[in-house]
Amino acid sequence: MSGNESRLQAIYQITNRERTPVTQPEPLNKIWACDVFNLAKMEECLSKNAFKAIKKTVQTGAPLDPAIAEVVAAAMKEWAMGKGAKFFSHIFYPMTNASAEKHDGFIVTNSEGNAITEFSGSLLIKGEPDGSSFPNGSIRMTNAARGYTAWDPTSPAYIMQTANGATLTIPSVFMSWTGEALDKKIPLLRSNAAMNRAAQKVLSLMGETDIAPLNSSCGAEQEYFLVDANFANARPDLLLAGRTLFGAPSAKGQQFDDHYFGAIPERVQVFMQDFEDQLYKLGIPAKTHHNEVAPGQFEIAPYFEAANVAADHQQLLMTVLKNTAKKHGFLCLLHEKPFAGINGSGKHVNWSVGNATQGNLLDPGDTPHDNLNFLLFCGAVIRGVHLFGPLLRAAIATASNDHRLGANEAPPAIMSVYLGDQLENLFRDIKEGNLSITKAGGDMDLGLSQILNFKRDPGDRNRTSPFAFTGNRFEFRAVGSGQSVSGPLVVMNTMLADSLEWIAERLEAKLTAGSDQATAVIAVLKDLITEHGNAVFGGDGYSSDWHSKAVEERGLKNIPTTADALPALREASVKKLFASTGVLSAVELESRFEVYSEQYILAIELEAKLVVEMAKSSIYPAAISYLSELAAANVSMAEMTIELDKTTAKTVAAATNAMMAAVAKLSTALEQHDFASTEEHMQFLAKDVRGLMDEVRLHADALETEVADELWPLPKYREMLFIK
Ligand code: ADP
Ligand code: MG
Repeated sequence: MSGNESRLQAIYQITNRERTPVTQPEPLNKIWACDVFNLAKMEECLSKNAFKAIKKTVQTGAPLDPAIAEVVAAAMKEWAMGKGAKFFSHIFYPMTNASAEKHDGFIVTNSEGNAITEFSGSLLIKGEPDGSSFPNGSIRMTNAARGYTAWDPTSPAYIMQTANGATLTIPSVFMSWTGEALDKKIPLLRSNAAMNRAAQKVLSLMGETDIAPLNSSCGAEQEYFLVDANFANARPDLLLAGRTLFGAPSAKGQQFDDHYFGAIPERVQVFMQDFEDQLYKLGIPAKTHHNEVAPGQFEIAPYFEAANVAADHQQLLMTVLKNTAKKHGFLCLLHEKPFAGINGSGKHVNWSVGNATQGNLLDPGDTPHDNLNFLLFCGAVIRGVHLFGPLLRAAIATASNDHRLGANEAPPAIMSVYLGDQLENLFRDIKEGNLSITKAGGDMDLGLSQILNFKRDPGDRNRTSPFAFTGNRFEFRAVGSGQSVSGPLVVMNTMLADSLEWIAERLEAKLTAGSDQATAVIAVLKDLITEHGNAVFGGDGYSSDWHSKAVEERGLKNIPTTADALPALREASVKKLFASTGVLSAVELESRFEVYSEQYILAIELEAKLVVEMAKSSIYPAAISYLSELAAANVSMAEMTIELDKTTAKTVAAATNAMMAAVAKLSTALEQHDFASTEEHMQFLAKDVRGLMDEVRLHADALETEVADELWPLPKYREMLFIK
């Protein structure tokens, strides 16, 4: 059997596959949220009083009477069983980026042996999974395994349809027996509460009397790759690590810029329609989809929602995305850099804060210079990014996202804020003490009579900024495609809370001293922008000029790897931030450092082991087969007195030897387990191990371009990216 059997098989299977039949799309009003137990469903089946109580909890976070929970549980069970559910599950979000669920049946039997069903308020309110298998960062000993899940009524329960039937799924928080947060939802809810408290203070100092609870909002743009499953099955690296650890570049990549916003291939259109119909049934408002920059790369963005619901929906979206891809014969890659040399995938997190009475506080309106509330909230964000840039970097630090940040496509690993010309000038005026009337964008006139004129946005877009103001929200562009959005949202809400507290204190002092409101606001903002304006940057974030200027002149940090980023979680200022806002206790914060570090270590070790294995068991044999073919050809040619050029054989032999020498070094490095600290272990992996992995790859990829195509065992880049 030749070495490339599985590769050729994959191509054969793909080119001969039966097309997935196109299903007739269902009308939106028929499927929208049909599998969600939302307020509309509750209104239909609850008494007026019970509905009023649960609605208040959902909309304002008011405490819920256990008697009402009892009534809701009964209605929820009826509804779910009517949709065929026999099981229920508290879904929760451990400190990994995954979702976790344990399923329980509604069934109990009575003494006559009959099956009856049961789902009480207490079963709805609290679940008890054996928590010991989830990373907890030494919060608990393995033998002290008790963990609780508790219903989050502010995120609606839904029916998850899978091959083994319908399951009532209840969004939940997850905590230890000792009450510490073991998940990503508790800190998110707490950060929202902290932001609300601080925002209330600022708004009442601004003379607002009717202030509804403030909530943060999130709209996440999700990028992903689709690769045919037959190829993925022939690539251990894609299957186990989610990215290619080897692979020479394809002659055609993304250099023609012909994929971005191009026509979506038909097979992918069929997949997208199926995927989005499922999202609609689950009440997830899928809003845009398009081809992304790299071949085989796509994006989906739902319409924005309250951050807590958006975060749950984002987890669900990733699950449905992967499952639906499988159904259509694809492997969906959420890794941030599945293929070297072409764009990676991010998840832009659009974030704003607002409420029902004051609206979106990050919306400048037409005249930002006299929208004092906006200026305060925008200033608060600037201060947050300046003070807690390294924390923002830590919130998006994973082994896989390191491949993207700082490379020439994704935002740099230096955290700065882009405001756009209008706002940048405005804050400069405030700093210099001469606030003037802001210039609006003006009309866009193309000089074509048939195209209607429209208002131009006051600021352009800056795709090179990690943190950009985009009209009425900030867009955190450096988040990784496979990540939960919760971590970044927690940091944004918490730093905003801290800055709003800082503002409230100063504003109050000035007002008490008799200053009028506008003068007080401008004075506070002047101090703020003088101290923190260094984080504002409107130029090209990819340029090397910025990289040196940011660090040397602005005092910002360039933090290239996760190993450099995670120690921020142990810094005194960060501990103080989370403690003073009540978002994470010292123990909870330390546990996050430990869990994220461990995830990093495990990810790199897994990849390194795969590099060794694939180099030895796939690539080396292919190179040797080719060398022996060349040698045999040389012998038979010599018999005919034909002289063969030996350059190829020598190149292949040299690359093979160099690759195996690097493999030996990498294997030795992997045996080292003696580290003084977690930080030291991470640095060793980031520098030595990653360096050796790259060295092995360099020689292996050189071999790919030399060895006879028919002998090459792994599907090639051009095949994975272009054959669908
Ligand atoms: P683009 O690619 O131009 O940045 P998209 O339309 O793909 O924009 O995605 C923008 C995302 O931002 C969407 O999820 C959208 O709903 C969300 N969004 C819009 N307004 C807000 C807001 N005020 N707060 C949070 N997210 C928002
Ligand atoms: Mg965007």
